[in-house]
Amino acid sequence: MTTTSTHAQEVVQMEREYVLGVYTRPPFVLVRGEGCTLYDSQGQAYLDCVAGIAVNVLGYNDPGIRQAMAEAAATGLLHVSNLYHTEPHARLAKLLCETSFADKVHFSLTGADANEGAFKFARRYARERGHPDKYEILAFHGAFHGRLFGSLAATPREQYQAPFRPLMPGVRFAAFNDLASAQAAMDSRVCAIIVEPIQGEGGIHPATQEFLQGLRELADAHDALLIFDEVQCGLGRTGHLWAYQGYGVEPDILTAAKPLAGGLPMGAILMRQKVADAIHPGDHASTFAGNPFTAHVAHHVVGRVAQPEFLAQVRAKGQYLVERLQEINSPHIREIRGQGLMVGVELDVEAGPVVERGYEHGLLLVSAGPNVVRFVPPLVIQQEELARAVEILEAILAAL
Ligand SMILES: *Cc1c(COP(=O)(O)O)cnc(C)c1O
Repeated sequence: MTTTSTHAQEVVQMEREYVLGVYTRPPFVLVRGEGCTLYDSQGQAYLDCVAGIAVNVLGYNDPGIRQAMAEAAATGLLHVSNLYHTEPHARLAKLLCETSFADKVHFSLTGADANEGAFKFARRYARERGHPDKYEILAFHGAFHGRLFGSLAATPREQYQAPFRPLMPGVRFAAFNDLASAQAAMDSRVCAIIVEPIQGEGGIHPATQEFLQGLRELADAHDALLIFDEVQCGLGRTGHLWAYQGYGVEPDILTAAKPLAGGLPMGAILMRQKVADAIHPGDHASTFAGNPFTAHVAHHVVGRVAQPEFLAQVRAKGQYLVERLQEINSPHIREIRGQGLMVGVELDVEAGPVVERGYEHGLLLVSAGPNVVRFVPPLVIQQEELARAVEILEAILAAL
């Protein structure tokens, strides 16, 4: 691999010429990763507190993932389609059920299509019970559920929705963490309530226990399904395998994706038996979802993250991160929020320029909304690395 600055410029130029411009990227080219550090083509190191947006839970170049990929590759079966049985697909579904409330799993490819599958299953469930007009979805302000027409309809952000209307009809909204608002929005036409136990893109807002408990009761009272979108907060991120386990409130359907296969694309819809009973052969399908290569790697990732010691170290490091952040003496910090290694620092200035300064200091951060700087590092990050990241943020804020 060439490692000169001319090479970086060539890549940036090539992207500008040929790649659709929906992303604004910084002008370096990443070529390699090790642990929680990424390296660009000029040899500059970046401490990664983004993890591919809460994806790379085991960091980079993890020996276990490499071995799982080698084992899966050695079978020659990258993909065979969902027309046939494969062992990794079945074993992963079993592991996900054994480590959660779920009785059945359906695989998808992304978070957005996991949520769209969940919406389809919720409608199917209501129809199966003889309610043809029960097809609406209740979602919440500040939510992010994806960028496809159904998931986008449940993502109430004007700049995301406006250019693409009409979206899927039948989505209504209530205020997050406001049970009275949810009660007022609820009626017999709603087949499902979808909520992120911790809103991610909306600015790292954890739900309260009373709110999730109240939604559970509200859904039950209306024979609607409760869907937890754990695409970002699930799979160890909060220091619990599933975020709902930290709240003691169980959903009927849970959607997962980002970290599931350690960086390979994979999503999953976890559900109770009563939901599964309403779905029949041919109701939903995907060509690639749950292919044996990705499923084998995901089984390795889930197996490691589910270890109690692994989850305990996430909780300990999350607490350490919040304590260090609280010690920053800056008038720009308004609030620090989060659970485990999903932490947001709300500023009184825009987060974008702070993230950009991070690049100059060799630190990768990502914003969550206009003024929140988000920490979603690999879950294997070391305490010293977290301390270094906080020091850099402190220096950036001091120089504003
Ligand atoms: C990222 C995200 C999604 C969408 O996932 P994609 O894989 O980008 O489609 C959905 N819900 C939540 C909570 C997310 O953070």
